[in-house]
Amino acid sequence: MTLPKELQGFAIDHLGIAVKDLEAASLPYQLLGLPLLGEDEIVASQYVKVRALQAGESLIELLEPTHSESPIAQFIEKRGEGLHHLALRVEDLEAEIRRLEAQNAQFISTEPRRGRAGTRVVFLHPKWAKGVLIELVEHKD
Ligand code: ZN
Repeated sequence: MTLPKELQGFAIDHLGIAVKDLEAASLPYQLLGLPLLGEDEIVASQYVKVRALQAGESLIELLEPTHSESPIAQFIEKRGEGLHHLALRVEDLEAEIRRLEAQNAQFISTEPRRGRAGTRVVFLHPKWAKGVLIELVEHKD
């Protein structure tokens, strides 16, 4: 199913799940039948190793910290393994940042960072969205 162009922005790009061990964490999804997408990838900006599984047009991203200072390591320490963030796909990251800033949205940082597979990402503050950490993702063309 392909959505009309005007509805393609803001699809769920992926769900990010904080895990201690990629191998153990990916097993349930593989048993469910979700195929692995590509190779595991280190995302240096977040100090994580990412394993992506395909769930229809969205991904499940399993995030294993590579460093104790990783935000994912800190999350696991505080709250245990589990759902960490919701990522929405946008066409033009800078335009969305400007638009949301004008509406007083709270960002963790408005400086785009490098995400998985060459994407550019920013995070909105979970306080702004009732406890949900929202990531905006722009794919390169
Ligand atoms: Zn993410």
